[in-house]
Amino acid sequence: MPRPRCPLAFFALLVSTGLLQAQTNIDAAFARDPKQPVDQSYTDHIKQYTTQPYFNSPLTDYLPASNTVPTPAKVLGDVSGAPGILPYAEDVYAYFRLLEKSTPRVKVYSIGHTEEGREMIAAAVADESLLAKMSENDTRLAKLADPRTISLDDAKAKELVNASFPIYYITGTIHSPETGAPTALMELAYRLAVDDSPYIQYIRTHMVVLITPVVEVDGRDRMVDIYKWHLAHPKEQWPRLVYWGHYVAHDNNRDAMAMTLDLTRNVLDTYLKFHAQVLHDLHESVPFLYDNTVGDGPYNAWVDPLLNGEWAMLGWNNVQQMTAFGMPGVFTHGDFDTWSPGYLMFLAAMHNGISRLYETFGNGGADTEKRILDPDEYARTWYKPNPPLPVVTWSQRNNNNYEETALLSTLSFFAQNGQQFLLNYYTKAKRSVEKPESSGPAAYVLDEPASSREAELLRTLALQHVEISKLSAPFTYTPPAKPAKADKGDEKSDDKTDKDKADKPESPKPQTFAAGTYVIRMDQPYSRIADALLDRQYWAPDDPQKHPYDDTGWSFGDLFHVKTVRVTDPAILKVKMETVSDPNADFGKVSGSGGVYAVNNSSEVSLLGLRYTLKDATISVVDKAFDADSHHFEAGSLLIQNVDAAKLKDALGGAGLGAVSLGAMPSVAAHPAAAPRIAFMHTWIATQTEGWWREAFDRMHVPYDYISTQTVAVTPDLRSKYDVIVFAPVGRASTQQVVNGMPMWGNPLPWQKTDLTPNLGRIDSTPDMRPGLTYAGVDHLRDFVTKGGLLITSEDSAQFAIELGLAPGVFVAPKGSVRVVGSVLNSVVVDKSSPIANGYDKELGVYSAEGMAFTVSNTSVNRHIETQKDFKRPTGRGGPADDDIPEDRPYVAAEPLPSPKPWEPTPLNEEEARNNVYLIPEQYRPDVILRFGSGKGFLLSGLLDGGSAIEEKPIVVDAHLGQGNVLLFATNPVYRGETLGSYALVFNAIQNFDRLSKASPAAGTK
Ligand SMILES: [Zn+2]
Repeated sequence: MPRPRCPLAFFALLVSTGLLQAQTNIDAAFARDPKQPVDQSYTDHIKQYTTQPYFNSPLTDYLPASNTVPTPAKVLGDVSGAPGILPYAEDVYAYFRLLEKSTPRVKVYSIGHTEEGREMIAAAVADESLLAKMSENDTRLAKLADPRTISLDDAKAKELVNASFPIYYITGTIHSPETGAPTALMELAYRLAVDDSPYIQYIRTHMVVLITPVVEVDGRDRMVDIYKWHLAHPKEQWPRLVYWGHYVAHDNNRDAMAMTLDLTRNVLDTYLKFHAQVLHDLHESVPFLYDNTVGDGPYNAWVDPLLNGEWAMLGWNNVQQMTAFGMPGVFTHGDFDTWSPGYLMFLAAMHNGISRLYETFGNGGADTEKRILDPDEYARTWYKPNPPLPVVTWSQRNNNNYEETALLSTLSFFAQNGQQFLLNYYTKAKRSVEKPESSGPAAYVLDEPASSREAELLRTLALQHVEISKLSAPFTYTPPAKPAKADKGDEKSDDKTDKDKADKPESPKPQTFAAGTYVIRMDQPYSRIADALLDRQYWAPDDPQKHPYDDTGWSFGDLFHVKTVRVTDPAILKVKMETVSDPNADFGKVSGSGGVYAVNNSSEVSLLGLRYTLKDATISVVDKAFDADSHHFEAGSLLIQNVDAAKLKDALGGAGLGAVSLGAMPSVAAHPAAAPRIAFMHTWIATQTEGWWREAFDRMHVPYDYISTQTVAVTPDLRSKYDVIVFAPVGRASTQQVVNGMPMWGNPLPWQKTDLTPNLGRIDSTPDMRPGLTYAGVDHLRDFVTKGGLLITSEDSAQFAIELGLAPGVFVAPKGSVRVVGSVLNSVVVDKSSPIANGYDKELGVYSAEGMAFTVSNTSVNRHIETQKDFKRPTGRGGPADDDIPEDRPYVAAEPLPSPKPWEPTPLNEEEARNNVYLIPEQYRPDVILRFGSGKGFLLSGLLDGGSAIEEKPIVVDAHLGQGNVLLFATNPVYRGETLGSYALVFNAIQNFDRLSKASPAAGTK
């Protein structure tokens, strides 16, 4: 579609042809109460700040007056959505608490704190008659939420439904640059409490609206600082919001599986404590309002089908209402697939409620701006018959009008159908309890000896409010036989550790789970979230959805490296079990009695932290596996002496570990456990992906100095300060960006704590975010490694190390046509002798964002060396496998060509090695620790297409440079709190930073 030459002329055309007549076709149901006076000044300002009449509706183009209840202007100094005004969270809270003081229709609850100690609140808004009955209503809702309490009695449930009113929970500004929601929600609360129009009276007398106006409070306060800086420096570029929350930015809305962030836990706890039916999260991005309630396929495979119907009902109704108001650019289909359960709002979908999310158009601040849309944003489609305008002047007030109008109209619809939604709420909960008999499975069993990985998995499930049980008696399970499938004959792997064998038809073997084994029963109200996390996912490569919105796989059993068995036989539910109220209490146990405590390393996530927690104890690391007191201990296990028993027990419990107390030091080679000095290097380009690493290090009590690339640029002798430098992934950053930083034209971009910006510069600070690592910094890193330091890299930072020559012999493998979108892939341990692999058995599920892998070489240049696989025999005598033999001369056999495995370097022959300056001396050749799997077992969860390009390629490599090491991950081993199974690769490497180098070969050998 050609763009109109003059945008203004195009507007005039639209208006004159009546396409945008907002004031016609109004649903009379939303008329205001003519008897209630209007706050004229506030109303005038709404009009003034709304850039076109059709960007408002009869619901929000006025504000009712009140003699007793203050409007948002009391705190803001102007109306909600006024240009130039962005309140801090505490100002927003101050307003909600003013409301609470001035009207019995608002009650404010403190719902917890953030990582940086800022408060989170929820405000309940309803008629005083409802708020007075909150507690007795909640008693009824609690029974509907857990139908076991009423013996799954539908008649009883109906009675409870008839007597109850629903709770609708709205959350704002989880994404800090999406700034409009807090003021929209302040005004929404005022309207709900004050407005006497019949439809609002109906809402407040039939339901409770629960509002958390700011979800990411730490990030909100930083965003307001940035915006204030911008207002104070109107002619300058403003710094980007490089930190949102304490750990992560946009990914705070991907934490609803692993529950690592305070905001996720606070919102889920509130949602479940109030027994709300809906969790509706407010965002900003696409124009003008995308209600992603309907979204696009594929839908999550674990939700109750009833929810699909509720999404359709609410989403399409909302669009219909907004269309009736004549507001352009409102849609509900498209864009967002509903597959991953990682989004905050999806907590409701996974706990028998309804998840919803709005994307409203926003300017990332409160400036009124000319906005130019992309063709795909303003294109008309079947689901956008009244699409957004291609060019628009957009204000924060427009944003607030859209958000409030959409919310008010959907609340009205919800109130009118409240009993139906309550009944659905009960039905979904009941079906969750009935899951074992309907669709199954009956339970998941954690078939694993106690480990810190298992403790973490149990902890996560407990945070999800999943009930955990433990067998009191053994149970023998025979999995159902799989029908034999025709062999496609395309298998090629010859490695016995790969999982191809799993698909050969085998008669299932019974397995017995001992008493004490953890069981997650599926006959519980929150069975869906447990099922969604513990099951595996499959995204068909030919799915019509070509753009997965997020990760396609997340199976927690694989990612936590905990063997989980999906048990379909309901007989397990009849076995005697005890309910585990506190899974932590099961850990930290010490058996035996003696002065030496042995802690096994079963790829534990928390062993390294123990070294720092028990800093005064004498701790050794064993070099080889050993047995003592009928317990087996892997290489890398700890022997702890000179420690206070109570202190040890405390530390073990917190770490999800147990110990065996031995009478004497076992006779096994061991060395003192180092407490390496760690630096964590971040860029000023992006801090989110490394933020997940920081979260993991903090949670596992591994201390570090947090430094930036700018620090490294001016610190010549890093080795005197640090043993290990962690350079976690930046997030699709090029080497050039890391080295050069941001362009130096324009003004400096400060990230500092000042009177104007009190919330910046606390995690790290700089007077100017633009300068990068610089080549001096690269030299400092190289010097650090060659003097014996360990540099840890992953994904783009691994690519950085390769491109700068810090990892001789390691290269990024060509991706070919492989397609991976946030999938869980199988990997195989190649080098069991490396301490990095301590505690790992043969295989490990790893998270791969895009299918990155490595190749290794014995030379420092990536030059192809002919292998047997490349050889094609020439035309001549004999068959394809025979040697050609030239006539009339004696036959001379060729040197055999090498046949390396995909994870091995191609050996050079004498000819190739002679006088080759690029040939890496043996002791500096890279060690492959882990490689990708292959065959049918390669994909564990998610999407994998064209996998042969990366099958069996190295993914974790220890490169040697001088006296030190560079550890490279092609995958991300520390990601979103979901990959606990691979944390120990990082921690083992740190613990053994000084034991990774190879000895020089003895003189005389090659
Ligand atoms: Zn967002």
